[in-house]
Amino acid sequence: MAVAALSRLAASVMRPDGVVTYDCEGGVDGQGRPTLRLRLHGTLRLRCDRCGEELAWQLDCERIFFFVRSEAGLADIPVDDAPEEPLVGSTHFDLAALIEDEAILQLPISPRHPDCAAPFPVEPDADGEEERPHPFAELARLRKDGGVR
Ligand SMILES: [Zn+2]
Repeated sequence: MAVAALSRLAASVMRPDGVVTYDCEGGVDGQGRPTLRLRLHGTLRLRCDRCGEELAWQLDCERIFFFVRSEAGLADIPVDDAPEEPLVGSTHFDLAALIEDEAILQLPISPRHPDCAAPFPVEPDADGEEERPHPFAELARLRKDGGVR
């Protein structure tokens, strides 16, 4: 999928270049639940937090989901640290939106060149500048609440 075609992801990178390659595989887990294994790869063009220049960041992740029949089904699932995440399945499941959500959630909070030589940005004056929340914290919260489309 072209990064430029994923509008929310495109807005989160410095330059919406290249593609996100995905691989998804359906299955059934040991509890008889339908599952989806999703792998994402790609090179995203992010802005280095130190020097402001572009950096090539490697997206490389694998996630495992299982499907439930309804939003109500999500509420019955205890919140735990299991690597599998529940999703509400349907016959018109939006795989593209899931891929985009996952790519966005993987983005580093503060991308930097590994060998960036630029000095750290000057700390803002003590005039009440608030620490910015991670822009995707809200998305992560929505997901925890079962708000995945
Ligand atoms: Zn840099």
